[in-house]
Amino acid sequence: ATPTAVMVATGVGANNGVLIKGGDALERAQKISHVIFDKTGTLTQGNAKVTTVKIFNEMDRGEFLTLVASAEASSEHPLAKAILEYARHFHFFDEPSNTSELQTYSEQAKFSGWLHDVSDFSVLPGKGIQCSIDGKWILVGNRKLLTENGITIPSNVENFVVELEESARTGILVAHDNIVIGALGIADPLKREAAVVVEGLIKMGVKPIMVTGDNWRTARAVAKEVGIQDVRAEVLPAGKAEVVRSFQKGGSIVAMVGDGINDSPALAAADVGMAIGAGTDIAIEAAEYVLMRSNLEDVIIAIDLSRKTFTRIR
Ligand code: ADP
Ligand code: MG
Repeated sequence: ATPTAVMVATGVGANNGVLIKGGDALERAQKISHVIFDKTGTLTQGNAKVTTVKIFNEMDRGEFLTLVASAEASSEHPLAKAILEYARHFHFFDEPSNTSELQTYSEQAKFSGWLHDVSDFSVLPGKGIQCSIDGKWILVGNRKLLTENGITIPSNVENFVVELEESARTGILVAHDNIVIGALGIADPLKREAAVVVEGLIKMGVKPIMVTGDNWRTARAVAKEVGIQDVRAEVLPAGKAEVVRSFQKGGSIVAMVGDGINDSPALAAADVGMAIGAGTDIAIEAAEYVLMRSNLEDVIIAIDLSRKTFTRIR
C-alpha cells in the first residue's frame, strides 16, 4: 500500500470512530488470526447490577447491605460499583440510583454519610477486597479469597453460588469475623452486538477467544451465550498477557480487545491491541487501536479496513 492509501485508511477509520496509532498497526491488522476478548466491559456492557442478595445468618438486610457497601466503598471495581448502587438504592429508594456526578465511590460514601468507617482496606486483585469494620474482618470476593483466608464455604452457600454462576451471574461471597454471612449475585448483560460480531469473525476465518478473571462456570455460561468456544477463566491480572503469548507461540497473529487496567499488559503483548473507548486510560494508552464508539462491530471494521488497504486488487 502507498503512504496515501495508509493515510486514507486511517482517515476512514477515524470517521468510523476507530483511531489507529500508526501505519504498522494498520498493516498488522490484516493478518489477525485470533481475537481474544476480555469479558467484563468488553463483551459485556460493564454495567453490572445486583440481582440477588442472600443472607445466611440473622443479620438484617439493611445492615448486611450497609456492611458490604462500606467494605466496597473504596474499590473502583465495577462489581463494587454495582453493590454500592444497590445498597444506596435500598436505603434511599426514592433517590435516583444514577450518582455519576460524584467522581469516586468514596466520594459517594462521604456524600451519603450512612456507611461505616473502614480501616486496613486492601484490594486483592482478581479475588476481591478485605478490610476491618468495628474491629471485625470483612472479606468480599470470590471463593479463592475466602479459602485462601482459611474460611470454610458451607455447602448451602456453595450450592447457592453455583446456581448463580450457571445463569451467567457472578457470585460474590461475604465473610464477617471468619464466617460466611451472605452472598450476592451480580449480572452484567452482553453488549447487543456481541454475538453478531463473534459470528462475523468466525465467518472471516478469525477465531474468537474469551479471557476473564471471573470464575469458570460464569465464564462458560457467558461464552455460550455469545458463541465463543475457547474460554480461559480465573485468569489473574498478570495472566492475560500470558494467554496472548501462548497463542503467539503457536504462530497465531493475535488481537486483544479489552477495557481494563488488568487488560493493558495483554493489549501491549498482542500483535494488535484494541482498547474499548469507554475503558480506562491505561488500556487506551497500551493499545494501538481505540474503538471510540465502544461498539464491538468496530473490531470487524478494523480488520476489514486493513485487509482492503493491504490486499492487492486484482
Ligand atoms: P475481569 O477479568 O472479569 O475484569 P477481575 O480480575 O477484575 O475480573 O476480577 C475477578 C474476580 O475477582 C471477580 O469476578 C470477583 O469474583 C473478584 N473481585 C475482584 N474485585 C472485586 C471486588 N471489588 N469485590 C468483590 N469481588 C471482586
Ligand atoms: Mg474488562
